[in-house]
Amino acid sequence: MHEFSLCQNLLEQVLATAHQHQAVAVKCIDVRLWPAAGISAGQLAAAFNTASSSTPAAGAELRIEESARQYRCRQCDHRYTDESGQTACPACGSTDCDPLIADTLLITNIELLL
Ligand SMILES: [Zn+2]
Repeated sequence: MHEFSLCQNLLEQVLATAHQHQAVAVKCIDVRLWPAAGISAGQLAAAFNTASSSTPAAGAELRIEESARQYRCRQCDHRYTDESGQTACPACGSTDCDPLIADTLLITNIELLL
């Protein structure tokens, strides 16, 4: 499933960081999610719980900050989010814009137990 591969990726990064710092456990992970393909924070958290069981990241609290959907303007290639609910490009005013189709996940903070 889609959120599962996102989680695998997230987990690999978290475990690599934990390993680098020789942490015994991961306490909490802050991530930012730009949902594009309809993934929800709840689905992501559930998938992460499953993926992380029996790893040092098991039981870590996953805090997800959901960001607004991102768009790319076909006229000028400007990228923007629709936080104000507008779908026209803020740079050139064109409405010929595509939603970005890939879900993007960014780790903003990891708290480790050393
Ligand atoms: Zn534009």
